[in-house]
Parts: sequence; C-alpha cells; structure tokens
Amino acid sequence: MKKNILVVGAGFAGAVIARDLADTGQYSIDVIDARPHAAGNCFDPYDEKNKLRIHQYGPHIFHTNNQDIFDYLSRFTGWLPYNHKVEALVEGIGFVPFPINIQTINHLYNKSYSKESEMKYFLSQLCEHHKKVENARQAAENSYGKELVELFFARYTKKMWDLELEELPASVVARLPLRYDDRSGYFDDKYQAMPQNGYVALFENLLNHPDIHLYLDTSFVRTMENQYHHIFNSMAIDEYYDYEFDALPYRSIKYRHQLKKEHHQPVPTVNLTDEGPVTRYTDWRLYPGCGTLESESVISYEYPCSYEDNNNERYYPVKTIDNVPQQRFKQYEQLSKKNNKCTFIGRCGQYRYLDMHQVVANSRMVAKRYKASA
Ligand code: UDP
Repeated sequence: MKKNILVVGAGFAGAVIARDLADTGQYSIDVIDARPHAAGNCFDPYDEKNKLRIHQYGPHIFHTNNQDIFDYLSRFTGWLPYNHKVEALVEGIGFVPFPINIQTINHLYNKSYSKESEMKYFLSQLCEHHKKVENARQAAENSYGKELVELFFARYTKKMWDLELEELPASVVARLPLRYDDRSGYFDDKYQAMPQNGYVALFENLLNHPDIHLYLDTSFVRTMENQYHHIFNSMAIDEYYDYEFDALPYRSIKYRHQLKKEHHQPVPTVNLTDEGPVTRYTDWRLYPGCGTLESESVISYEYPCSYEDNNNERYYPVKTIDNVPQQRFKQYEQLSKKNNKCTFIGRCGQYRYLDMHQVVANSRMVAKRYKASA
C-alpha cells in the first residue's frame, strides 16, 4: 500500500517534494493549490494574441552555482542561456548599469575609468567606515558611500519594504554584487538560464507522474490532514496556526501588465530608484523564450505593497534588525516541531528569503530526510 501524502502548494517547494517522493514508487501524492494554475509565482503562460510569454508574478530568472540542482531541473526542461541585465533609470542622467560597476561610475561622475584600481580608489574616497555593521545602511555605505546609497538604495528600499535601510539587515543589500570592472550581469552564478518552453512546461513535466494528482482551485483546510500520512505545507506558517503569536510581516507586489504601442528600453528590466511607486519594469520581448522585437510590447510594472492590499499574496518574509519577526517565527517553528505530521516548506512556510534554486535545494533535502525517516 502506498502512503498518502498531501502537498499544499504547486510551486517549486511543493512540486519538487511531490516528484521526489513519487519517484520512489512508495507514495501517492495529492498536490493542491488554491490558484487555478500550477507553477506558483513562476507562472508564465504564453499569450497567443500578443505573441509573448509573460511571468504573471514578476520576472523569474533561474540562476545557481549548484550543478546538482541545475542537472535535476534539466530532467524537466531544456534551457535558453540568459545573462540577466538590469539598468537603473536615474533622474537627470538616464540609464546606467546596475548593480553598480565601473560604467555606472563613469556615467554618473563623467569619468573614463577603465581599470579596477581606478574604480576602487574612487569608491574608497566615497565610502564610510562603520566599524560594527548593524544594518543595511551601514553595510551599503561602507561599500558605496552615502551619495550612491541615497541614489540607488535608500528610496528603492523604502518603497520595496516600507522600511528604512537602517531597519533592515545587511543581508538584504548584500544580495547585490559590487563590480569594480565593467561586467554588467545581475547575477554571478555559473548557471543562468530561462526554461526553454517556459516554467509552465517545466512544472507540467515535474508533476507528470502517475503517483501525483494535482487539484487546482483547492484551498487547504485543516480537516484534510486526517486523510494523509504526512503533509508538506507551503502556506504561511502564522496563518496555519491562526496567528497564535500574531501575524508575521510579509511584503507583496502588485504587477500591472500594460500593452504599449511604442516602447524602448535598453535592457529587459529597468529599476526605478526614485520615490515613485514603481520599483521595476520589464519588457518581455527582451527575455529569451518570452518574445521578440516583432511581438507586441507588454510592459510589466511592479508596485510593492502590503500583502493585505494584494489578496493576502505573501511574497517576501520581512526580517528586521530588532529581531521581532524572527523571534515570532521561532515561536511558530517551536509549535511546528511538536507537529510530526506536517512539514513546512518554501518561503512562506519556512519564513526565509529563498531564491528558486534554494527552494529546489531545500525541498530536495526535506524529501530526502523524510524518505530516510519514514
Ligand atoms: N535594491 C535597491 N535598489 C535596487 C535594487 C535592489 O535598493 O535598484 C535593494 C532592495 O532593498 C532590494 C534588495 O536590494 O530589496 C535586493 O534586491 P533584489 O533585486 O535581489 O530583490 P528581489 O529580486 O528579490 O526583489
């Protein structure tokens, strides 16, 4: 008899566990998702009318240094190599490469540096020297100095998180590399690519197994648990426990997809680092596998917001230097440790700011541990 397993959420966190358990032949797995589609926030249906593949929940560019994870996903998709490019649109100056590199400095300060040593010396004159780095502002000022921090980080971060840089941990801005040469990619990872036929096709293959049963438009209710041997749940852990220790803060983003007649931008995604409401906009024609310049231009604008303002869509766990959210999460985590029947997974279940490749790696590890213990 196969053991019945319930997986809540058909994004990467849930789908990978479902597949890894299914591949053993010992489990029958029901995957439910409240949405009408699988693929979680990677959902990228092809729009026949405009001849474009549009990521409905913002651009998802796959990148990893982990060969095992890349090989694992390669079982379910081919790839289109893509070195992600972003520029920031600076008031009064125009487009400049972002993350900051030597060309960014040349544009902003009217220089013609070409050597790393020149860039390093220039930045060393701008940088602060906070001895004990306690927040994202101090970390950023140590690398870039106050002026560049105001221009590129302070206002963007405020609208993104509704928090000041000094309220956030250094790890938030440490996601971005600082380049002393003219490399212009957003990521440094060895593998950077888009799924050949989109994430929707990748998820179809990932979930295509006789022991996996997918139920869309199906919300989780606690009574479902009775019918299963184990549950892997990617829902928000505070919601699962009825907010017993109060709500955990999460941040959300509203995406507006707009058809434009005439549009030009130099790179697929543009960051707006000013006070306006938009953080980024994306031209899908410029992403491999999503469109071509002959396609209609649909531009997706990102408006960060609270999750309550966005149908309770929680995208980013919010961690602050006062440790309040982290402590609250620990209380939920303690509670969950007493619950042998349920494992929390993914960004919302584990309250971690995970990228796709980290979610896949984490779910593979969770599945491996479960198989070993069951
Ligand atoms: N950030 C910024 N200016 C930018 C881009 C990023 O200040 O132009 C900061 C901001 O706090 C953001 C963090 O760096 O939340 C991480 O950026 P990333 O692009 O990795 O965020 P994600 O793609 O996960 O939204």
